[in-house]
Amino acid sequence: MPEIDRARLTELIAAEQATYTQRHPRSRELFEQGTNLFGKVPMTWMNKWTGGFPLYLDHARGNRISDVDGHTYVDFALGDTGAMAGHSPRATVEAVARRVGDLGGITTMLPSEDAQWVGAELTRRFGMPLWSFTLTATDANRWAVRLARLATGRPKILVFGYCYHGSVDETFAIPGPEGKAQSRPGNVAPPVPLELTTRAATWNDLASVERELAHGDVAAILTEPALTNIGIVLPEPGFMEGLRGLATRYGALLMIDETHTFSAGWGGATREWGLEPDIFVIGKSIGGGIPSGAYGISSEVAAAVTSHTDAGDADLIDVGGVGGTLAGNALSTAAMRATLGEVLTEEAFARMVELATAFTDGVQATLDELDVPWSVSQLGARSEYRFARPAPRTGEESAAAHDDDIDAYMHLAMCNRGILMTPFHNMALMCPDTTRADVDRHTATFREVVEALYA
Ligand code: PMP
Repeated sequence: MPEIDRARLTELIAAEQATYTQRHPRSRELFEQGTNLFGKVPMTWMNKWTGGFPLYLDHARGNRISDVDGHTYVDFALGDTGAMAGHSPRATVEAVARRVGDLGGITTMLPSEDAQWVGAELTRRFGMPLWSFTLTATDANRWAVRLARLATGRPKILVFGYCYHGSVDETFAIPGPEGKAQSRPGNVAPPVPLELTTRAATWNDLASVERELAHGDVAAILTEPALTNIGIVLPEPGFMEGLRGLATRYGALLMIDETHTFSAGWGGATREWGLEPDIFVIGKSIGGGIPSGAYGISSEVAAAVTSHTDAGDADLIDVGGVGGTLAGNALSTAAMRATLGEVLTEEAFARMVELATAFTDGVQATLDELDVPWSVSQLGARSEYRFARPAPRTGEESAAAHDDDIDAYMHLAMCNRGILMTPFHNMALMCPDTTRADVDRHTATFREVVEALYA
């Protein structure tokens, strides 16, 4: 198995860095002018883009992004799934323009008919009978976690090491010593020690889940059907079924966050794999880029919640802690209706999954031919390579496989050759506008930059 020469890697990064700087004078200038922004960027995580400064957006359409220096990229990042429908999809843009323009009324506190259409569509796809809307996946998780605690009368949430569900306090936990959850590295100022709110288990390890559930204080297991925020770590056969069984046995709810794993198919992994959640969460992509999110609950969860609201010990109408002023607004629901109805259709998913398979095969061919000790995992329309072989089985193993330098080199080298990968991962997502030529271009470029690394 070939080894990476670290001195050579440092040289390669420096060369790519120099190219990046030379190609993007306007982006660099704008970054330097951003002095009233914390970290010089609109949101601090935008500094995650490698190169010393981010690219500045000029415009984006379909799967192309153009920066202010006049370069156009094939975009496989797609807003880390926010733009899974492609950038500014026509049907969504037209619906949004109608709502904003001729029809009028963006946020009024009144329901619109679109919301009912979207609720019915979410039921058709994901199976949950009852839905509420949010503007982000974080909020969907946050509010649904409250409902889970209310419905079960239990205080804690069980999560997996190195999961990510948005900025939800309870979820920044990893398994710690003596079976206690502890804060994951980098967690910003948790309000209370994580062991008070959370039980942490290890992905693909049902015994670790059962050990934590046996305490009898878990309201819900909150998980993605595959971890997607520490590379893609797929569930082993029987793991998801095992979670369902354990949740039922120990009186916890199964809460599935499909914000990323929606890529598995038009009904997400829930439909593809026949999962049976009690609570379902989705966000990012369903509004085609317009802030949108949703959570679905089973009739049993709804009945348990309603028993409390009827008794007057929980408030879902006023300031009880569930809901936001702009949630379910007319613009967001119009965007969801158009995106689900006309863009992220069953036919679109079939094409996107086929392209992701070609993408994955292309990466695997280079890894095989050059005997590179990495792995690649596919989840429907999404594919991701990781610097470990075999593919990690747990979040902890996948976290240990992270390599800042290889990561920086790959992202910069791909960007300098006209391909954008998600900055937080080596994730590539297909959208309805992605073509076979785009995938083939990635395959050839991936081979070129990996070959340079292992030369
Ligand atoms: N859930 C999952 C699985 C996610 O990956 C993310 C974001 N990467 C979120 C929730 C939070 O989404 P948002 O930042 O849009 O609230």
